Amino acid sequence: MKKMKNVHFFGAKGEKGPFEKSLLGGKGANLAEMASMGFPVPPGFTIPTQVCLDYLEDDKYPSELKSEVNKAIKKIEKEVSRSFGSKKNPLLISVRSGAPVSMPGMMDTILNLGLNQEIVEEMARKIENQRFPWDAYRRFLQMYGDVVLNIRDKHGRDPFNDYFDSYKHDKKIKEDTELNSDDLKNICFEYKNIAIEHNKPIPDEPNKQLWGAISAVFKSWENERAVVYRRLNGIEYEMGTAVNVQAMVFGNLNNESGTGVAFTRNPATGTANVYGEFLVNAQGEDVVAGIRTPLPIEKMQKVFPKAYSDLIHVCSSLEQHYKEMQDLEFTIQDKKLWMLQCRTGKRTGFAAVQIAVDLVNEGIMSKENALLSIDPEHLGHLLQPLFDPNEKQNAIRGGRLLGRGLPAGPGAATGRIVFSATAAEDFASRGEPVILVRPETSPEDIRGMAAARGILTSRGGMTSHAALVGRQMGKVCVVGCQNARIDVVKKILIFNERILREGNFISLDGTTGQIVDGELPTRSSEILNVLLDGYLNPEDSKVYQNYSLIMDWTDDFRKLKIRTNVDQPDQARKAIAFGAEGIGLCRTEHMFFEGERIDIVREMILAENKEIRQQALDKLLPLQQNDFEQIFKVMKGKPVTIRLLDPPLHEFLPHDVSGIKKMAKIMKVSVNEIKRRIAELSEANPMLGHRGCRLGLAYPEITEMQAKALFLAAGKISSNDVHPEIMVPLVGHMEELKRQKRVISNAAKEASFGGAYQIGTMIELPRAALTAGEIAKHADFFSFGTNDLTQTTFGLSRDDASSFLPDYIESGILHEDPFASLDIHGVGELVSMASKKGRSTKRNLKLGVCGEHGGDPKSIMFFHQTGLDYVSCSPFRVPVARLAAAQAVLKHDGK
Ligand code: PEP
Ligand code: MG
Repeated sequence: MKKMKNVHFFGAKGEKGPFEKSLLGGKGANLAEMASMGFPVPPGFTIPTQVCLDYLEDDKYPSELKSEVNKAIKKIEKEVSRSFGSKKNPLLISVRSGAPVSMPGMMDTILNLGLNQEIVEEMARKIENQRFPWDAYRRFLQMYGDVVLNIRDKHGRDPFNDYFDSYKHDKKIKEDTELNSDDLKNICFEYKNIAIEHNKPIPDEPNKQLWGAISAVFKSWENERAVVYRRLNGIEYEMGTAVNVQAMVFGNLNNESGTGVAFTRNPATGTANVYGEFLVNAQGEDVVAGIRTPLPIEKMQKVFPKAYSDLIHVCSSLEQHYKEMQDLEFTIQDKKLWMLQCRTGKRTGFAAVQIAVDLVNEGIMSKENALLSIDPEHLGHLLQPLFDPNEKQNAIRGGRLLGRGLPAGPGAATGRIVFSATAAEDFASRGEPVILVRPETSPEDIRGMAAARGILTSRGGMTSHAALVGRQMGKVCVVGCQNARIDVVKKILIFNERILREGNFISLDGTTGQIVDGELPTRSSEILNVLLDGYLNPEDSKVYQNYSLIMDWTDDFRKLKIRTNVDQPDQARKAIAFGAEGIGLCRTEHMFFEGERIDIVREMILAENKEIRQQALDKLLPLQQNDFEQIFKVMKGKPVTIRLLDPPLHEFLPHDVSGIKKMAKIMKVSVNEIKRRIAELSEANPMLGHRGCRLGLAYPEITEMQAKALFLAAGKISSNDVHPEIMVPLVGHMEELKRQKRVISNAAKEASFGGAYQIGTMIELPRAALTAGEIAKHADFFSFGTNDLTQTTFGLSRDDASSFLPDYIESGILHEDPFASLDIHGVGELVSMASKKGRSTKRNLKLGVCGEHGGDPKSIMFFHQTGLDYVSCSPFRVPVARLAAAQAVLKHDGK
């Protein structure tokens, strides 16, 4: 691009780019690009973003801007053979915003600028369609009064809109199109009066109108909508907006005119046909407003044959040029096609993979860009069952939306509500679909969670127990739904006035967090059918074929290994099918709830002395050994990180009367004895209490049993097929690790294990990160437990934060939930510091992450940049992580 002046005219065919979005904004750059390619773009010019920022700071324009704008207007006049402000042959212009990144509808636009009463009367004398000039003037006065002059009545309302509505109401008119030219004339006169009454007359002089509009559009960069949108989407203020001034074309001039939108490919399915819709005799806003039903784009072939063939040509040329699917806006005036906008088109996950594969096959897109064109989250959605979109929309329109929580586990689930794990198992054993509803879940609920299709909680955040276990199991999960009142004793779930009882149906959308009353039909994912259930052959599923190809491509680029967080062989099998290369976290405590073994675990905890505890541990050992063996077998030599017991012991104890009685009977002690022991073990702040390696240090025999079970299991597998890594949780001091390591190494000797193994630690406390250099002396690997590290760095409880965290995000203190996407400036700093310190002690120290952030694309980008070796996430996030890891290489290391 030539050295940037304050005005960039976009009419020059053959002008060489690049047309920089940072200066011209997305709209301005693409209009310039389309014009330079010779496509029919109404002539116009862009005032770049820098002028916006300077104007907002100094409240004045560069001295030469006025003359440059005048020159550019003259150029437009010449191109369209019309004059700005002339009565005989007036040029009308639009003034629109255009930021470097798309901010749809957040800033202002003024259309039909250049009109005044005299000009309109002259136009009306000359053209057949009397209605047209008065309607154009009416729209201009309304937009100018609202956007530029910001005229409001004493209640803060837009008086133009109110007058318009009351006029239509008095005349019993429903649609704007029913207003005739006299009506519109009356409305225009009243609009001018309203402006005068507010001491803000609308200027008649076109030049004055133009400068008013330019300043208003620049100022709209600071309006509330734009400020909030920028905050929510992490867009920097320093980008500024450009202003585009362009000759108007009219789709509402007559029946030879029209307007529409088109995608170069189908944005829902990805099919390689132009997709879109249009309206005859209408303006762009009529298509968006949805008052009239548009026609499918194919019908344009009949109505406007020449404009249609031109549009198809523009579509394919633009797609070839941008090497991406495009979304276009166009207008037809007197049968001639005009292009008003183009940008990369938004699409569903299904369309994203189809389009990426097709564009690579057609030689339009490189594999690298194809991978970058897919939102990693889309892959997660492709794996989940979905609600039928029409049915869901109808249900919501019909008032069945009950509430909304945090979308912790994507997908769609419909089922009968139950309030306990036992009820979940009972209903499921009768073949009933179940949704488990709990204020929050604990390890005691695991069997109920396994039996349920979906989980709903009223408390807890994105790393609460329900969220992380639900995701690991691949369950649909909505957590922290603040407007749900749950009474597990009365077995009722209340949303405002609606009371639901056990057995009633609800539907959970784990992708959006919506909760809908009653049943909704779901569709199962084709990819899962091929990968796991085997009902579908790969050759019969296009979606699977596309998915699988994209996955293969990710493996060509990514450097991070992808492991998974699982603790059951079937979960491990799933994760491998999705491409997991190892287990990064096996939470052994989850195995303690399997079958009848919880009673033995409780015996171990309730034991008053070492001897009784040892008896319980002896019973647990073969069970744990068998669990580990099963997992090692499934993993076939892939690395497996097994973590020692982590949560506080009281979490395993019974809290209900029948459970307490049962334990009293088993242990041959009184009920009061059991109650006393439970009270003894309960803690005021268990998250910071007797958990993690502190348990193993207090009761080394527990560590010994777990390590021995692991080595005995590993010993049964051929040494090539087992790579155990034992991980010590919640270490804050190197001495803790050193002592646990001694117990583990002794266990290896006692189990006569001769193979290779590694001992490492989680880095999940700030002290561990700060002293990582020392800790590394005793560790073969570090795995960052970013759930606890976030909790302890912020001093923010994982389980309680959902009651105030949404307000933090709403009010802009935080941009995102730090339990879902890593807080790079704070927690990330600790990760990066610990990585450096660890590797300065041990150059080859293996580094991974096993907190929930291991499945979050933005966090994965950071982990790649920090030089970690792997990320570990729940099975259903593995494809997402594979793509995000490849994108991290392409974005960070360059293509
Ligand atoms: C963590 O803290 O990040 C972690 C993986 O451990 P858990 O979630 O089991 O505490
Ligand atoms: Mg942890």
